[in-house]
Parts: sequence; structure tokens; C-alpha cells
Amino acid sequence: ATPVSIMVGSGRAAQMGVLFRSGAALEGLGAAQVVAVDKTGTVTQGRPEVTEVVAIGRWQQAKAELLQLTAAAETSSEHPLARAIERAALGKGESVNALSPASNFQAIPGYGVQANVNGQRIEVGAARYMTKLGLDLGELEAQADALARRGRTPVFIAVDGQLAGLLGVADPVRGGSVQAIQTLQHQGTEVAMITGDTRATAQAVAAEVGIERVLAEVLPEGKSDAVQELQAGGRKVAFVGDGINDAPALARADVGVAIGTGTDVAVETADVILMSGDLRGVPNAIALSRATLRNIR
Ligand code: ADP
Ligand code: MG
Repeated sequence: ATPVSIMVGSGRAAQMGVLFRSGAALEGLGAAQVVAVDKTGTVTQGRPEVTEVVAIGRWQQAKAELLQLTAAAETSSEHPLARAIERAALGKGESVNALSPASNFQAIPGYGVQANVNGQRIEVGAARYMTKLGLDLGELEAQADALARRGRTPVFIAVDGQLAGLLGVADPVRGGSVQAIQTLQHQGTEVAMITGDTRATAQAVAAEVGIERVLAEVLPEGKSDAVQELQAGGRKVAFVGDGINDAPALARADVGVAIGTGTDVAVETADVILMSGDLRGVPNAIALSRATLRNIR
């Protein structure tokens, strides 16, 4: 495209809250055959909330205590799930100081966290984390499946190496997501979702917004491989993400699109930035990119 049409296109995009880092980005986005979206914080609001608490064994009589121990173990975590668990454990106006102090905190990206609280070892995370620890999910497996099929992220809790309970965490889809995905599909773009979350949870969310292709249970370092998988046969892939984990995928994609409300790393790595969190910015930007290219022919 000519410098003038690129300037005009970029200016129009900025009015819609879409910032293109370069002329190449403005030209490239319209050529994307696949738009891959991150789930948490991109398709969904990224403001998870604990909606179910399940306790087993002796913890059935001490559900509140189990939730407090779990929240205490999560205080040093930067994961959005950690904040949701804290909020669920704390009373109105209570700060995290109300929780017991945790020591020996360790985060295992893509799996969960562990810490010692009140002399007990607390492990919190995905099913694959429990499996990694050699724990059998037992009666909780079916309950976790049922939660996941309703779009909840199941979070398991173990105390001193014994499974103690399960949380269901809900993260509602963003207002504009359904319409954005429909428009992308009408534009002839395939939409895929990439997430570290449980497969059943991811599929439930994908079904809610009309996405057919789902790459789930992807480890943080695997997101760029997932983008590469979508690039098979030379297809041009745009990746839309918001998180720290998303930087390698944003870099690997033919065009990286960051949600402007996301983390700095994501915004710095991206070719295109959506100033509002609204996913409808993506089909709008694609339409604009295509119009800019047409103008110069
Ligand atoms: P995503 O951002 O795509 O949801 P992550 O790689 O951050 O994926 O996490 C994948 C899964 O690992 C989460 O869905 C959750 O089950 C588990 N997990 C990661 N961090 C934590 C944490 N701090 N507390 C509980 N579970 C966690
Ligand atoms: Mg995310």
C-alpha cells in the first residue's frame, strides 16, 4: 500500500481504538486466514470468580477453613485464579492480611502452586498437577468433569499429599465475543482458541461463542507451538492475547494482536493493539486492513 493510504488507514483505525505498530501490520492483518484467540482475558472477561466449593473427607466439616488455607497458599501467585480464590475466602472489607502466612511458596506455570500454611503442605491446581504429584482424583474426577462441561475451571486442592477438595471457577465471556467471532467467520476467517485450561472447560466456552477449533491444555511455553501448528500449509495466522504467557505466541504469529488492557509484555510484543478489551476490534481492524489494500489497487 502507498504511504498515504497506510496513513489514512492507521488514522481511521486509531479512531476505532485499534493501533497498528507498522504499515506491514496494517497490510498483514487483512491477509490472515486464521485468527487464533487466547481464552482467559481475551474471549472471557478475565475476572474469574469461585462459584462452587466441594470438600471431601474430614474437610466436609471444615469447608471454610479449606478455602482459607487455599487462599493463603495463593497470596504470592500472580495468576488471576489466585485473586478469585482470595476474594472467595475473605469476608467483606477483609484484606489478605487476615489469612495465615504462607512459606515455601512455589508456582508451577501451567499447573498450579504449592506452599506451606499452618504447618500443612497445600497444593492447588489443575488435574494434571494432581496427576504430576501422583494423586488419584478419585470421586472428584466426575464432579470436576461436570463443572468443566458447564464452562467452569476445576481447581483441585490437596493438603499434606491428600486430595481435599475442588473449586469451580467461572469466568464469563466478554460482551462482544459472540458477535466478534460471528463476524470473523462471515469475513471468511477460521477462528481457533488456544488455552492452558482443561479441555472440557475450553470446549464449553468455545461452544458458547461459536468457535469450533480448540487447542486446550497447552502449557505456557507451548502456545507458540500451537500457533505454528495452525500455520501448517503456509496459512497466515493472527493471534490475539492479553497475558504474559502470550508473548511468544504473539511473536510467532504472522500478526500479533494484544488486548490493550492486558499485560505490558503482551502489548510490547504485539503488532496491533486493541485499546478496548472488546474483541469486535479484530473484525473491524481486518475490514479496515482489507479496505486499505483495495484502495491502492
Ligand atoms: P490460561 O492462562 O490459558 O488459563 P495457564 O497456563 O495460566 O493458562 O494455566 C493453566 C491451568 O493451570 C489453569 O487453568 C489452572 O488449572 C492451573 N493453574 C495455573 N496457575 C494456577 C494457580 N495459581 N492456582 C490454581 N491453578 C493454577
Ligand atoms: Mg490469558
